[in-house]
This record gives sequence, C-alpha cells and structure tokens, in this order.
Amino acid sequence: MALDIRTIFFMLGLATLAAAVSLFLAQRVRLAVHGIECWAWGMACAACSGFLLAQRGALSPLLTVVAANSVLLLGLSLFWLGMRRFVGRSCSPSWIFAAPAIALPFLATRYLDDSDPAGRISFLSIIVALLLFLTASELLRHGERGRLGRRWVALLLILHGLFFCVRAILSATGTPLSDPFGSGRLAMMTGLEGFLFILFFTLGLVIMTSETLQAELNRQATRDPLTDVYNRRAFHDLSAHELARAQRSGRALALLLIDLDHFKQLNDRHGHHVGDLALKHFVARVAPCLRHQDIFARYGGEEFVVLLPDTEVTTALVVAERIRAAVAGHPLETSRGPVTITVSIGVATTLPTSPDITATINSADAALYRAKAEGRNRAVSG
Ligand code: GH3
Ligand code: MG
Ligand code: MG
Repeated sequence: MALDIRTIFFMLGLATLAAAVSLFLAQRVRLAVHGIECWAWGMACAACSGFLLAQRGALSPLLTVVAANSVLLLGLSLFWLGMRRFVGRSCSPSWIFAAPAIALPFLATRYLDDSDPAGRISFLSIIVALLLFLTASELLRHGERGRLGRRWVALLLILHGLFFCVRAILSATGTPLSDPFGSGRLAMMTGLEGFLFILFFTLGLVIMTSETLQAELNRQATRDPLTDVYNRRAFHDLSAHELARAQRSGRALALLLIDLDHFKQLNDRHGHHVGDLALKHFVARVAPCLRHQDIFARYGGEEFVVLLPDTEVTTALVVAERIRAAVAGHPLETSRGPVTITVSIGVATTLPTSPDITATINSADAALYRAKAEGRNRAVSG
C-alpha cells in the first residue's frame, strides 16, 4: 500500500493538535492535576513539528529540519516536565531547553544539507528515545505508581522509545534506506507509529488524569481538610468494616476518644490560628504512636478518635498513655514561646460477641468525662 509520507505527517500534526486543544481545555477548567499545562504546550510543539515535517522538500531545510526537530525535542521535554510535576516533583523549567540545545548545533551545521540523512535520523532518534524513557521513569519511579492509567502511559512511552531505538539502529545500518519500496519506508513507519501512539497516548492521559481526580475526590470526601486525618464519616465507614472483621475473628477492638484540654482557653489566649496549628501539631505527635492498621479520625472540633483493631484494653491503655506523653512532652512552638498542649483520653473496648460502635463510643465518652473530672492530661478506661 502506498501512503504519502507528507500526508501521514500532516495527519499526525492534526491528531496531535487535537490532543493539544483538549489538554488546553482541560487545563482551563482547572482540574486538580499538575502538569497538564506542560502537556498541552508539549503537544502543541509536537503538532507544529508534524506540520513542518510534512513540508519537507517544499520549504527550506531550516524550517523542515532544524526548526521541526528542535520544536519536537522541546515538546518532548515539556512533556517530561509535565510528567515530573504530575508525580509531584519539581525542577527548573529551563531544563526543557537542554535537549534542543544539544541537538541544535548538529542540525544547523552537520545535518542541514541532507548529505547524511541516516546519521541525522539515528542521532535524533536516540535523543527522542532518551526523553521518552526519562518521562516513563518519572511515572514508574515516583508518586502513586500502582495505578493502571500510569502504567499504561508509561508502557506506551517505553514502546514508543523502543521504536525510536530500532529506528536509530535501522538507519545507522542503512537497512531501510535501501529497501525495495524506496527510501521513504522508514519515514512512513515513523509517521504511522506516531499516529497510533498519539491516539493511544491521549486515551492513556485521560485515564491517568481521571484516576488522579477520582483519588483526589476520595481524599476530599474522607479526610479532614485541616489535619488530613479521616473525617467522621470515613471513620464510621472504616469502623463498620473493622467491627465486622472483629466479630468474625472474635478478637477485641479498642477505641480511644481523645479531647484536647482547655482548648477554648488556648484559642482565646493565642488566637484561632494558633488553635489550628495546635490541632495539626497534635496530629503529628499522635501519628507515630499508631500502627498502619489503626484508624485515626477527627470526630469533631478538638475531639479525635482512634480505633485499634485486635487490641485488648490493657494494650489500648498503654497506647493511650504513649499518646498522652507524646503530646504533653512536645510543646507547640509559637511566636510567643512554647505552648504546652495536653489531652484527656477515654478508652473502651467492644464486646467481641456483639460489637457496636455507638455503644463503644458512648463508653469511651464516659471514660473521657472521668478523665476530665479527675484533672485532665490522663487516660482512663471505661
Ligand atoms: P475541656 O478541657 O473541657 O475539653 O475544655 P475545652 O476548652 O477544650 O472544651 P470546649 O468544648 O469548651 O471548647 C472547645 C473549643 O474548640 C471551642 C471551639 O472554638 C474550638 N474548636 C473547635 N474546632 C476548632 C478548630 O478547627 N480550630 C480551632 N482553632 N478551634 C476549634
Ligand atoms: Mg477540649
Ligand atoms: Mg471537646
């Protein structure tokens, strides 16, 4: 089948432009996904490159060789920067000029007159492959690596990179340039592969961003915005699951109800802002005292709850005491000097035969009331 190479590259430019426009629109609706802007500009650069490549022979090599390839490398570098931001890493944007800056002198001198097309193809293919592998490695090595969309996008980048490696080798060995179908077969394969890549890749980006948005929505629905621990609703959902498990296994489940002492006073004396800092400080002190499976949530105001699976009351009291000491022993540093925060803790356990979260919370609340009445800064079991 004879396909016109220029048409293929023009179509590739159009497909990439469509992807760029979609990404610009996605960026305008301010999706909570980092890096989209870089992807959009990267796609726009790649689209420009496709249109310029389609003019090979019709326009000056300064545009179709030097500009087309430099813009392509800039686009790929923008994509790498976007992926880096997507996974939560930062770096100076000036790095996007590194690959074009390396390639530009060679393109403008050695490869400009088309006397060594094989050398030019190999040289550029290797730089393109390296950029693609670098971009895939950002996805595979950083952030939430396990997600399907991320692995799909990384796989596509690696396959695309491998194609360019093969292209470099084929070009360097002269194989396709002397094939019976004429010297354009490699270029045609490149255009078609690029076209397929853009289609699958754009779909991959859609899946990847949806996953990220879904995770962000889940986080917002289940977390307290100030302290980032679970909110009350998430606590009830998660505790229902733990209660069912405890009932099946017949093992005890302990609950700590923690209330910051004289918190109103702290707010009144130091201001609401310091009160907020105290809540964050408290959470940071408690987190290291807990295990991975423990459920820590803000129950409301300055009241927190911890569910300890597979825990008897004696162990729960040890944990409660550890928390009390960790909070009291680390004052909050403020502009007006250190402020000591203390907590009172009510401890209760569920009945393995008929676990009931409301009854357990009520029992912990009664214990907490006693802890307050006995002078605060203590843990009491119900
Ligand atoms: P007690 O030792 O008996 O628990 O006294 P307390 O002052 O801690 O308890 P009280 O229930 O009288 O006051 C709780 C205060 O917590 C009142 C409320 O303004 C404050 N509070 C609740 N949520 C927040 C918050 O998100 N930020 C700040 N800064 N304060 C909060
Ligand atoms: Mg309080
Ligand atoms: Mg309270």
